[in-house]
Amino acid sequence: MEPKTLITGFPRIGEKRELKKALESFWSGKSSIEELEKTSANLRKKHWQIQQSKGIDLISCNDFSWYDNMLDTIVMLNAIPRRFQSISDKINRYFAMARGSKDAVAMEMTKWFNTNYHYIVPELSNKIRFSLDASKIIKEYEEAKALGISPKINLIGPLTFLGLSKTENGDDPYNHLGAVTTVYKELLEKVSELDETVYVQLDEPMMVKDPSQKQLELLKETLDCFAAVAGNVRIILTTYFEHSVEAVTLLTNTPLWGIGLDFVHGPDNIKAINSLNGKKLIAGVVDGRNIWINNLEQSLELLNKIAEKTDRRNIIISSSCSLLHVPFGLENEPDNSVNNWMSFAKEKVEETVLLSRLFNNSKQTENDQSLLEQNRATIIEKETSPLVVNNEVLERQKISKTNQREGSSDERLMLQKNTFKLPPLPTTTIGSFPQTQEIRRLRRNFKKFEITSEQYEEGIKKYIDECISEQEEIGLDVLVHGEPERNDMVEYFGEMLEGFHFTTNGWVQSYGSRCVKPPIIYGDVSRPNPMTVKWITYAQSKTKKIMKGMLTGPVTILNWSFVRVDKPRSEVSKQIALALSDEIRDLQTAGIKIIQVDEAAFKEGYPLRKMNIADYETWAVENFRLAVSQAEKGTQIHTHMCYSNFKDIVDTLESMDADVITIETARSGNSLLKIFKESGYKNEIGPGVYDIHSPRIPSVQEFSDQIVSRMEVLPMEQLWINPDCGLKTRKWEEVKPTLTNMVKAVQEIRSA
Ligand code: GLN
Ligand code: ZN
Repeated sequence: MEPKTLITGFPRIGEKRELKKALESFWSGKSSIEELEKTSANLRKKHWQIQQSKGIDLISCNDFSWYDNMLDTIVMLNAIPRRFQSISDKINRYFAMARGSKDAVAMEMTKWFNTNYHYIVPELSNKIRFSLDASKIIKEYEEAKALGISPKINLIGPLTFLGLSKTENGDDPYNHLGAVTTVYKELLEKVSELDETVYVQLDEPMMVKDPSQKQLELLKETLDCFAAVAGNVRIILTTYFEHSVEAVTLLTNTPLWGIGLDFVHGPDNIKAINSLNGKKLIAGVVDGRNIWINNLEQSLELLNKIAEKTDRRNIIISSSCSLLHVPFGLENEPDNSVNNWMSFAKEKVEETVLLSRLFNNSKQTENDQSLLEQNRATIIEKETSPLVVNNEVLERQKISKTNQREGSSDERLMLQKNTFKLPPLPTTTIGSFPQTQEIRRLRRNFKKFEITSEQYEEGIKKYIDECISEQEEIGLDVLVHGEPERNDMVEYFGEMLEGFHFTTNGWVQSYGSRCVKPPIIYGDVSRPNPMTVKWITYAQSKTKKIMKGMLTGPVTILNWSFVRVDKPRSEVSKQIALALSDEIRDLQTAGIKIIQVDEAAFKEGYPLRKMNIADYETWAVENFRLAVSQAEKGTQIHTHMCYSNFKDIVDTLESMDADVITIETARSGNSLLKIFKESGYKNEIGPGVYDIHSPRIPSVQEFSDQIVSRMEVLPMEQLWINPDCGLKTRKWEEVKPTLTNMVKAVQEIRSA
């Protein structure tokens, strides 16, 4: 029977994060490799059987990974960087590449397209001799086969693999394409022996990022090359997160069996269907990037529209991308009125099968009919429930215009300089100080109602007191309260705002064994009460120095959440901005002079297609400005962003008009600062001089070298001195001496 349904990939971390626990226990030496293998095999089996029992025709293998699929591809191609080649044990070598070892620093990690999932960046050199290691794939295939499943083999395609690689001398990574294609071909030949018919899914999301003519030609050449592969291998080319019309149009005559397209995040894909030329269309209509139930009626309408352009028998219904980006299943969530509106990976599998039945059966059963009706009613409820709609917020949103802050930035900075009277090269930190066991325990106990709110408050205040006295001893100029009340910079605010829901088990893999639990924005956002004022004013009352208030910005809160889809993201972000603007007004009224609004995820939200960037930049900047619009001339607004890829966005950052921006530069040196200089950036900048990802304690000399080098790019009057990012993952034993050295270096430079 020809397949009718397909899942692009399934989450691997496990219902109860079993893989996380097994990995961490193995890493710490508490359990053996056999135990890790056993847990992994059990998880694969369980995940396959879930999809099988629900009726999915094409289930993936090789979507499992101990760390990351790009890293698995590096191993499959034997593209091991030189510094790991001396590690002979394959498993030790694998984890050394991911996490570093005694003698070799870990490979770089970066975000996968516009998701919060991180992949390992391949490092290619001219010395690399690619060769095939198909052992993982064959093992997983055979495991599935033993369970009566003939799985589809998931592979990252050669163009995406190379396109995301870095090369030794900055050479074109596609120089390696010939060699890499040869290995893929060998792999396809090898897997052709595994079954009567073998399905292979080649993921080429690179094709949604405005592919160049050259990339398109290379893709076509590569696929043509696979034409000679054994006839029982059916190749599916899959793209996601956006449309890939250019690529699809070019692939009409290639020997592909099917093409997988994301119709949720790339509606333009509909324009590509005419070019299918009898190929199967894997229609991604179940959103793999968000957690809302599918609007079945809308999906069926879309599928019927697609069917006008291609033989409907060629349509296979699928998820829009791997379900890796959503939590496992809803059944572990405690009762809540929003549960009905949501669909996690397991439920998405069911939706895919149901859609296929509704689409393919000319007559609907009574049961399916009632499921469809139920879905229609839930969708209406989800968009109109009093839990969702807040007329006051809607009214306010309508009348509010993006406010220009009072005064020009020159005027503001001058006024602030005169009142704050900070020394040249003022020193500060980015907000959080080490999160001790004690403080984590305090928060946990409070959440579980094991201590009273008085006890909790006392504990937090004690941390703040100590944090302030440490900072005074170190000699920092602008202090922070240390963020002891926050476990996470988005969750903390989400929990205090209306319109947010927090799951109990909604874990999503971020990298390796690390998972996050993104907040869910389901309704209009408002701020019933001040969120930070109590802690910040308490902290200010304990010091004569300036205490910097600390908030997370409207774009970052949005980008790190699952967001409702019945409103544009720009509007949801605007509601958050309005709530934050009230907080800023209250902080100001309470006497806080400096307020930092973190936008750590500003860059992450950038659209994958260039044509959509201007729109994003416009509303993202507008909402940031709206959030800080209440700040008077004398209130200094800081913002912070901790990544190094600013090249194309400096002008946008400038238009945010923060008085001070702190950025990450400790590893990258002056290159970033130069970009600010070249663009004529006028406001003040705090380039990071302390790499907070490393446990090292840099010397006074090292700091002084860093600072002097920053001063070669920008005048002293424009610079602040600070770490790259927050210090919450470091230990006090590292932070105290390091910041002391940083401040000493500044003092020496001031008096020189
Ligand atoms: N204020 C936050 C902190 O210091 C900023 C974190 C971030 O940028 N990721 O922890
Ligand atoms: Zn940061």
